[in-house]
Amino acid sequence: MSALARVTGHETEHTMHSGSCLCGAVSFDVSSELPGPDACHCLQCRKHSGHYFASTDIPRAALTVRGAERVTWFRSSEKVQRGFCATCGSSLFWDPIGRDFIGVAMGAFDGPTDTRLRIHIFVASKGDYYDIADGLPQNQR
Ligand SMILES: [Zn+2]
Ligand SMILES: [Zn+2]
Repeated sequence: MSALARVTGHETEHTMHSGSCLCGAVSFDVSSELPGPDACHCLQCRKHSGHYFASTDIPRAALTVRGAERVTWFRSSEKVQRGFCATCGSSLFWDPIGRDFIGVAMGAFDGPTDTRLRIHIFVASKGDYYDIADGLPQNQR
């Protein structure tokens, strides 16, 4: 496919995905396609999400948040903060500080996401109460 065809195809394709927290205080739009999400089984994601954390990394510029003042940010490591609704606690954002992308929780999206889980990561840290049997690639870290 030529570069021109790609540009034309992109312009005719309208991508907009929306989501919210459980109580609705925080909602968001994503103006880009959603890249294949990863499922992270690391201890921090397990604690933050209550299970494992599936998220899609999108360009920061593609994300519009309404009710952003209701998002509480927790600095879970030197380079990452996690955003959740201060009212209902929904896990929403995985924010690698200073990078040009941000992770958005798959569970927060409403309607079809038009994407599929791509890979499991930090599988070495996963809980012992479930198996990963979907045939997707698994990274130990
Ligand atoms: Zn909420
Ligand atoms: Zn993780």
